[in-house]
Amino acid sequence: MDIDGDGRISYWEFMEFLRQRGHEVNKYHSFMALDTDRNDYLDFYEVLVYYYVVKAGRRTCTECKALMKGLYFTCVTCFDSCHESYDLCSSCYRHARHVHHHTYFLDNYAMLLSKKDSFWASTSTNTV
Ligand SMILES: [Zn+2]
Ligand SMILES: [Zn+2]
Repeated sequence: MDIDGDGRISYWEFMEFLRQRGHEVNKYHSFMALDTDRNDYLDFYEVLVYYYVVKAGRRTCTECKALMKGLYFTCVTCFDSCHESYDLCSSCYRHARHVHHHTYFLDNYAMLLSKKDSFWASTSTNTV
């Protein structure tokens, strides 16, 4: 990633890295989110965070391509039926900046809870 070898990643180097890997993210938004000390460069630990986010399969918003930290919303119909999930960051969801043919959305936490409930429902025996 560090093309000029100065031990830090400039926005240009970050963009070049994402372009080569074909990562579909909002580059400026992601860079700003990672650059926690706001010095316009990513140091080793800030890059490490990005690596973790990518490796852990953190999602990007389907609409604005921002990395989603914390709460986000998933289309339940797409989640249950398609291989591609439709996810929205809380900002796109709140401002309805999306055109989507399904209407039922759950946040990631509620989604997890509903999966847990259906898991227990399907494994429980009928001994009341
Ligand atoms: Zn978004
Ligand atoms: Zn959908």
